[in-house]
Amino acid sequence: GSLFGALERQPADALLRLIGLYRQDQRPHKIDLGVGVYRNDAGETPVMRAIKAAEHRLADTQATKAYLGPEGDERFVELLAPIVFGSVKAADPCLTGVQTPGGTGALRLGAELVARGAGRPTVWIGTPTWPNHAPIFREAGLAVRSHPFFDPATGTIDFAAMIAALDQAKVGDVVLLHGCCHNPTGAELTQAQWTDLITLLTERRLIPFVDLAYQGLGRGLDADAATTRALLEAVPEAIVAYSCDKNFGLYRDRVGALWVKAADDGRTAAVRDNLLVLARSLWSMPPDHGAAAVREILEDGVLEAAWKDELEEMRTRIAGLRAELARAEPRLAALADQGGMFAMLPLSREAVLALRTDHGIYMADSGRINIAGLRSETIAGFVAAIAAHLQR
Ligand code: PLP
Repeated sequence: GSLFGALERQPADALLRLIGLYRQDQRPHKIDLGVGVYRNDAGETPVMRAIKAAEHRLADTQATKAYLGPEGDERFVELLAPIVFGSVKAADPCLTGVQTPGGTGALRLGAELVARGAGRPTVWIGTPTWPNHAPIFREAGLAVRSHPFFDPATGTIDFAAMIAALDQAKVGDVVLLHGCCHNPTGAELTQAQWTDLITLLTERRLIPFVDLAYQGLGRGLDADAATTRALLEAVPEAIVAYSCDKNFGLYRDRVGALWVKAADDGRTAAVRDNLLVLARSLWSMPPDHGAAAVREILEDGVLEAAWKDELEEMRTRIAGLRAELARAEPRLAALADQGGMFAMLPLSREAVLALRTDHGIYMADSGRINIAGLRSETIAGFVAAIAAHLQR
């Protein structure tokens, strides 16, 4: 028989397909709200100023490209940790971190570690979520179950249904949580709901696996890390997958990190050993360039301040667009209270396709938009075009 004879064709990635359709569209007023990259008001995704400066520095001073280890750039991880966890927690001996190829690599490495853990845990993932979440955990051999999160019919989080579903999880199961800026909905749990969720996790001994891919693009660097920090404070074991690809604008350079909090500092070394062995067989070592640029920034107070300023400009632009959408269309009022680049609009699939055909407005079939794809000159036309289709 043929080795590959049994393979079946696979569906193309829906968002990549959307990019292709957008490119083919010749209409000058077309709007791309599909792919999840930040854009400025000119519709561009420029290299951030601090990154450019850091890259120049690297070009001038980097003396070798000899191999690093499977942990990547240790100094990068060390300098990033206080931004994520705060300076006190970053020094917790129960916490160990390695560089990964983007947030995706961090999720996959974390998934592989979970698969090596005790008790055949199931991974619980809210609906809807980033479409790559379930495949990442399944490819690592884990059982995945979904729980309700956001109800598109009402445009709100169905917290009661979420808790009821997680109540069925068994001790040691893993719960994937978006640290901030939920993709695709932008919806956020309230303080009280986080408190309830953390109580459930602690009582049922469930392990939070936080995906923090947009720190600084929601409410600000510290605010966006608040729930991650609260979770780590509350539970004995936790996993945090981090991406620098959005908040440093490094997308294709693939920069991320994975941290694991072990139950006690005696267990950290074994966790780390296993992370390194797994990384070795997955990618040997992560790509260096982007993480080295981040390290250059975080090692230099001036560059770090410049990075934070530009990130804050990006964040403010997104928040401004949210406020403008909410003002222009009362049925979009909830967008002003949500966070991050994404929102899920109450649009049927037919409406999404009609907007594509009739107006050159490209968004995911689910009605998810990347808010940063809007510009001051396109927002009024966008609101007018969707108004006829909004379902609530
Ligand atoms: N997690 C979420 C929620 C995302 O939206 C993304 C990217 O779209 C990622 C993780 C992965 O990011 P990276 O490009 O760093 O792999």
